[in-house]
Amino acid sequence: METLHEWDRLHQIHPWAAMDDYQGYDNMFVDTADGIYLWDGNGKRFIDGPGGMWCVQIGYGRDEMADAIAQQVKKLPYTSPFTNTTEPSAILSKRLAEMAPGDLNNVFFTTGGSTAVDTALRTMHFMNNRLGRHDKKIVIAREKGYHGSTYLAHSVTGKERDKNRFDVESRLVRFLPDVNPYRRPDGMSVEEWCDEKVADLEKMIAEVGPENVGAFIAEPILSSGGVIVPPPGYHKRTFDICREHDILYISDEVVTGFGRLGHWFCSEEVFGIQPDMITCAKGLTSGYLPLGACIISDRVMERCASPDDPALFSNGYTYSAHPVSCVAALTNIEIMERENILEHVREITPYFQERLRALKKFPIVGDARGMGLLGCIEGKGKTLEEERELGNMIDAACEELGLLVRPLINMAVFSPPLVITRAQIDEMFDLLEKALEKVTRDLA
Ligand code: PLP
Repeated sequence: METLHEWDRLHQIHPWAAMDDYQGYDNMFVDTADGIYLWDGNGKRFIDGPGGMWCVQIGYGRDEMADAIAQQVKKLPYTSPFTNTTEPSAILSKRLAEMAPGDLNNVFFTTGGSTAVDTALRTMHFMNNRLGRHDKKIVIAREKGYHGSTYLAHSVTGKERDKNRFDVESRLVRFLPDVNPYRRPDGMSVEEWCDEKVADLEKMIAEVGPENVGAFIAEPILSSGGVIVPPPGYHKRTFDICREHDILYISDEVVTGFGRLGHWFCSEEVFGIQPDMITCAKGLTSGYLPLGACIISDRVMERCASPDDPALFSNGYTYSAHPVSCVAALTNIEIMERENILEHVREITPYFQERLRALKKFPIVGDARGMGLLGCIEGKGKTLEEERELGNMIDAACEELGLLVRPLINMAVFSPPLVITRAQIDEMFDLLEKALEKVTRDLA
């Protein structure tokens, strides 16, 4: 294993590599997995708290997935989506159109979440060019939002840029301030906070001019930003404002899609909106293979269409609609339906959230929040320095005990496989409590 680590250190660049010593850090070596558990190279078992990267909905080790993938590889591993189509991609597009709300009937397959977001933004540009609205291109996004790692998706990402040395296309985007109710000033009610956040959007549109704003992009829950659940009513009100100004509403459901909140998509079922576009990836295949999709409304497609002009929708990838990935998605959906996984998430959520919120009893926990099977604990330190270290300290204490979480500055987030049972939720939170006790002791 030491040799593997050495090769890895010397030759592999990992996402978000720390550049102070880019060959100096070892990533955890993961060897095998089953259900909600992973094993490292030394045979130590861990609960996979982050569910891969918010994606392993059906859990690991599914023979049915392996068989379906193998069969498609033997039958047809690849064909060009530019000129051909396949049975799995045609069936999957119909299934996604049925699952998505309202008139979101048009599916553009991508290679993951970033390329789905890229596609959504480019579609807005395409549409407004078609309509002759050449200035209506600016995207309103939000601080702490994460939308991916292509140039365009990164440009609309509002996470702290203090350690970022990549360029962004700043002419294209404006950011609204943090919507986290935990950050509201003392004495302000959540309702007043919501009014203020909605007013932020109205002000921004007025400032930029509605004729220049093409889209508003929002995650239903800002996941990588720290599982920020916006105040009740926020999404519906911001959606109505976008409609009023003919600004496209892009709901980035890369994390929340495919059951995380107990529904295929949550935009309509949980938040009461029918966006113009939904982006999804991750849970679409439960992480077994890469695939993403941008699901576009009929209304947008009709405005993109140009029967009078031979323009092309020149967006796409060699691996768009990859037939093997589409089979993985169809098998994933079949398993989720057969095992009633959406119902399971809805049933188990109150218990998961109850155990999560109980962590507020620790003085080092400032906030414990979430929705569905998404959770975050936000640490509170005596000093800013201490607070910034809390995510890493909680992560290290959990890892020692056999639980993986994802540290984010002063936070730890988790989104376990959706098949987690009540007993496994207890196992996970019992370990978290032990870890928090240890960190409390270490800081004393
Ligand atoms: N959008 C959201 C909300 C995400 O959380 C992510 C990834 O975490 C992305 C987009 C980018 O997806 P990918 O990493 O598959 O490109």
